[in-house]
Amino acid sequence: MKRLTDHLIIISFDCLSALDFLMLKDLPHFQTLLKNGAYVENVESIYPSVTYPCHATIVTGNYPNRHGVINNTLLQPGMLSPDWNWYRDCIHGTTLYDEAKKANLTTAALLWPVTAKAKIDYNMPEIFANRPWQNQILVSLMNGTPHFQWDLNKRYGHIRNGLHQPELDDFVLESTVDTIKTKRPNLVMVHFTDLDTQRHDHGFSSDEAIAALHRHNQRLGRIIEALQDIGIYENSTIVALGDHSALDEHNAVNLNVLLHKDHLITTNHKGKIINWRAYCKSCDGSAYIYVKDKQDLEAHIAVENMLSTLLADPQSGIEKVLTGKQAAEKGADGMCAFMIEAQKGYYFLEDFGGEYLKSITPKDAAADKRYTLACHGYSPEKEDYGTIFMAAGKGIQAITLPSIRLIDEGPTFARLLGVNLGSTDGRVIEEILTL
Ligand SMILES: [Zn+2]
Repeated sequence: MKRLTDHLIIISFDCLSALDFLMLKDLPHFQTLLKNGAYVENVESIYPSVTYPCHATIVTGNYPNRHGVINNTLLQPGMLSPDWNWYRDCIHGTTLYDEAKKANLTTAALLWPVTAKAKIDYNMPEIFANRPWQNQILVSLMNGTPHFQWDLNKRYGHIRNGLHQPELDDFVLESTVDTIKTKRPNLVMVHFTDLDTQRHDHGFSSDEAIAALHRHNQRLGRIIEALQDIGIYENSTIVALGDHSALDEHNAVNLNVLLHKDHLITTNHKGKIINWRAYCKSCDGSAYIYVKDKQDLEAHIAVENMLSTLLADPQSGIEKVLTGKQAAEKGADGMCAFMIEAQKGYYFLEDFGGEYLKSITPKDAAADKRYTLACHGYSPEKEDYGTIFMAAGKGIQAITLPSIRLIDEGPTFARLLGVNLGSTDGRVIEEILTL
């Protein structure tokens, strides 16, 4: 298959919404993409619409239940900070970067989710030190390309302030610009989370979120400039995309409180979980409910009755209940007993002590990062909840499309690079390509 571009630069601006277009169209560097590029007004995300499943979808062209990354974090009941799906091996089947490498293309990834220990030539994976004895830089080095990351940390590490934004994205930007200039990769995948963080902490349309969009415009400009500086801009394709949008919320729903009261979750005298028969695993705007033993009909029926009572109560925060089979039909994890969707204004936490409903104030959000003012994870069918896609440069036609699906992006990127992801849930968006 013929390659349509020499350098594909995929920039993921986490939480970029279709609603942001009104602002982006007036920002100069986004205008550069929009002027001669392809723009999709609305991209349908996947279910649950959270970052790790979304990014695994972008590089595979498949729904979560096919690529295997069905949530950000693992099912670890009772663990305050569960581990994330950090590793490449969490993804079943091939990926864009694996196929690019097989075709002898040079690959680079910066903070791209689910890439720890991936065979990427220049890899700085997104992975956090999740145990008290771990050191962040060492954890990153061990799970990516050590020398490459060591070098970038030495030069730009001073910009970083832990995981704090906007410093983290500023560090990622300098690292990306450096990587483009010194390595000239054929595929660059970079993930910026400034906007997502601001929306979580301050709300969807907050001043902080708007400031992050302006910073993203500057970051995009720096990447364009780097390509121009080394004379490869004309041979490059730049993609700016979002993974999901976000919705404001003001109430957290803790279904595990009710499961605990019904003895489906049991704790010891210290309040630690010692056993569970049913557990509500949050995906923020949605949640899976797992029954540990599939044969445990009693637990299954108890949960079913609980959910139908809650669904009948307009104050419960629950908008919809899906069976495991229905969740699988939407591309989510069919191993769950049920999947529940929050009403607008609500999201799910996993607390099993305290109250079923907890109202969230800006003060709560400032004090505890589990409490947020906007979040994602909702059904992609929710109103005003689409994300966005823009591409410009080699291999791309000037066109505006009303809609695509997140699953269509991977196959399209593969086509640009002249590689193949095999049979995928998504399709190549030929309308935007100069075939
Ligand atoms: Zn995200």
